[in-house]
Amino acid sequence: MSEGTQGPPEALSSGADEVMVSLYEAHKKIYPRSVSGVFTNWRWGFVFLTQLVFYGLPWLEWGQRQAVLFDLGSRRFYIFGLVLYPQDFIYLTGLLVISALSLFLFTAVAGRLWCGFACPQTVYTEIFLWIERKVEGDRSARMRLDGRPWSIEKVVRKGSKHFLWLALALWTGFTFVGYFTPIKELGSEFVQMRVSSWEMFWTFFYGFATYGNAGFMREQVCKHMCPYARFQSAMFDKDTLIVTYDAERGEPRGARSRQADPRGLGLGACVGCSLCVQVCPTGIDIRNGLQYECIGCGACADVCDTVMDKMGYARGLVKYSTQNAISQHWSRSETWRHVLRPRVLVYAAILGAVTIAMTVSLALRPPFKVDVVRDRGALARIVAGGTIENVYRLQVMNATESTQHYTITVNGLPGLVVASDNAVTVDATQSRWVAVRVQAPYDAALPGSHAIRFEIELKDSPAHLTEKSVFLVPR
Ligand code: SF4
Ligand code: SF4
Repeated sequence: MSEGTQGPPEALSSGADEVMVSLYEAHKKIYPRSVSGVFTNWRWGFVFLTQLVFYGLPWLEWGQRQAVLFDLGSRRFYIFGLVLYPQDFIYLTGLLVISALSLFLFTAVAGRLWCGFACPQTVYTEIFLWIERKVEGDRSARMRLDGRPWSIEKVVRKGSKHFLWLALALWTGFTFVGYFTPIKELGSEFVQMRVSSWEMFWTFFYGFATYGNAGFMREQVCKHMCPYARFQSAMFDKDTLIVTYDAERGEPRGARSRQADPRGLGLGACVGCSLCVQVCPTGIDIRNGLQYECIGCGACADVCDTVMDKMGYARGLVKYSTQNAISQHWSRSETWRHVLRPRVLVYAAILGAVTIAMTVSLALRPPFKVDVVRDRGALARIVAGGTIENVYRLQVMNATESTQHYTITVNGLPGLVVASDNAVTVDATQSRWVAVRVQAPYDAALPGSHAIRFEIELKDSPAHLTEKSVFLVPR
């Protein structure tokens, strides 16, 4: 894989015999040209879909509460009908495993699909670019505007753009915090200027991160900051679908009139218009081969297809294809047969298995949870009648939206009983600590530690949990 097109180091002469060589290339601002086509439509489809979900979800209600809320203060995560506790961390792990496997699978099949179509960096850059185009015009107008000295028109255009960018960025930050604080409350807190310092910090932090990343950093995030760009090549092979230039068909490139016969002129299909470079959000030339800066957005393929249409040539000089398909002239069906190779099928099988396991586990998840903690303040003791007593603290967590009633019993030693009230009620989505006194006859066991089990049953339901603990018999 080529490392892209880097300019030569700049040599700065600071004297007759002293030459200073800069190893850093000055950043060149990229002005992507607007483009339309199949891949652009897909990308905008993903922009709408992901942003509809992101901006819309916190406003959805589920009963009396926000449908999706990560309430860190009370340590509850609400996802529609699901009420998750920190003890449900395993599901977050499962979600991360599914995300990682999906990334492996999609990358093995079609390269940087995530980067080009659904990554927040791409999505927000696309939206910010759209605003920029609406305010400052397309590529050449923006370049002219930047090259002009400051004037009222330039101040108004630049000011309007930054105002719109900031408004969108702050709304994005507000929405982000709205996943952790009920968004309607957060809105009224902002209106009444009584928002907490943390909410204020995260709204502005996330907002300015969006403003900086999508407005200024853009392709530099993908090129220099994103770790995924660095290890993706390990998941590529010659049967991975990538945006690729058909050099055999395109070269030698050169300008010609529409009527001219390229073969007669000894030319390939590439007219050398450089539109594929002008639309590229990372500023690379796809004709130089696969480069790590390529995010697989397909913009160059779209624009090249419009050029091919104008010239009356077949589309697909730049297209999604595999290196093998291009070099061996495979048909589309042959290409797909090779794309669905064993590695892809293994990824898909593992992903399917993990997804099914996670779904089943979530569906069969008990409607409550219990943690048992031995009360360290009250060691085993002998109470009236020569009975041995141990005290435990049970945290009972109701993972549903209705009040639950439980019965606690204990077993593991002859005559072991719960001596305190064994009926517990916990309100909807709440958790409660309960002190439980457990007693056993003096001669039930030898001195030492003995394994016991708490059985917690949910009233009017087959659901019950068993939690292990130990019962101490003093000497
Ligand atoms: S857009 Fe197509 S025809 Fe124009 S330079 Fe790029 S590859 Fe060649
Ligand atoms: S080379 Fe093409 S696919 Fe790759 S980032 Fe540039 S425009 Fe997108």
